[in-house]
Amino acid sequence: MQKFRKIGVLTSGGDAPGMNAAIRAVTLAGETSGVDVVAVYEGYQGLMEGKVVDFSTGSVNGIIRRGGTTLYSARSPEFMLESGMQKAIETCRKFEIDGIVTIGGDGTFRGATDLTRRGIPCIGIPGTIDNDVTATDATIGYDTALNTTIGMIDCLRDTCESHARCNVVEVMGRHAGYIALESAIATGAEAVIISEIAHDEEAIIKRIADLRAAGKRSFIIVVSEGMGAYGEELTVKIENATGVESRFARFAHVVRGGVPTVADRVMASQMGAKAVELLLEGKSNMVVCKRNGRIVSEDIAYALTVDRMFKGKLKEGDLDPFTEDQIESMKALCEIRKQEIRDLYDLVEKTAR
Ligand code: ATP
Repeated sequence: MQKFRKIGVLTSGGDAPGMNAAIRAVTLAGETSGVDVVAVYEGYQGLMEGKVVDFSTGSVNGIIRRGGTTLYSARSPEFMLESGMQKAIETCRKFEIDGIVTIGGDGTFRGATDLTRRGIPCIGIPGTIDNDVTATDATIGYDTALNTTIGMIDCLRDTCESHARCNVVEVMGRHAGYIALESAIATGAEAVIISEIAHDEEAIIKRIADLRAAGKRSFIIVVSEGMGAYGEELTVKIENATGVESRFARFAHVVRGGVPTVADRVMASQMGAKAVELLLEGKSNMVVCKRNGRIVSEDIAYALTVDRMFKGKLKEGDLDPFTEDQIESMKALCEIRKQEIRDLYDLVEKTAR
């Protein structure tokens, strides 16, 4: 088994609150285990450019409570080319980096697989506010983004109530409806619209009209980012059809920032420590996941494939490397995710008035 003397940690792709807690945990758990830790700034781009700094206890003091990522992030198309990969490997050789913990989303995990194949063992940690990594019940940053989102919807509710208005709110999450669903439940929204489940526009408009006729003053309709420009169109339709003054709000990147919640800090710390443990056990090309309250690990190839399965993006041959049992377990996991989304959606529908 390879002897680890030095491991690197980097953040890549979209930033997410809680990433700093993971960076801290990797650094301190690494130190405790007797390995040196280096920080790689600006993700894979920084790895290619040799932006490597020795890290120790002092380097991570106080970062657990900070939003964003103190290691900065970058999207690096060059890293995906052979020339970029060569530069990244050269940096690892130069700084004697024996393994890397990469924190990010699916693109980041693909990069981790490429590096592992080239002899730099990597372990991935899911960091994205979208909660769209199928293999894990939660991703770092999701809980914070959700809390920021509901704080902002609560503010809109106040002003909608004062002025007897409707506000259609587009929330982040890319193609995943989790932020929309849970924020709709937590704010008592009158409807939620996500790309995963077909909605009944007429019924929603009628609901608003009926509720207004019954004396309700304020309305919040949460629309997921995956619906494209639909939220703006719907706002106009609601006002025209019901006469209720309607506004549109897009929260966008605001919810990517902010102080991480307890849930994100704790899970990120657990995942950071687990990633170091896995590397030191000689494991690589794994992603740390949370499943049924436990911190576990999954093969990155499995995680990326179950993700494509869930999103309906499987290509021919994608399932070939897996056993029947693995394919069955992927299908089961996709069913669980589908049901999770369906249950949250139904809850909004049952309680919206
Ligand atoms: P988020 O979900 O927040 O967007 P992400 O990790 O998916 O996070 P990406 O921009 O897709 O974000 O990926 C981050 C980086 O990982 C890319 O800039 C690129 O350097 C690397 N990467 C992405 N896809 C691949 C790939 N197919 N092969 C190798 N490296 C990749």
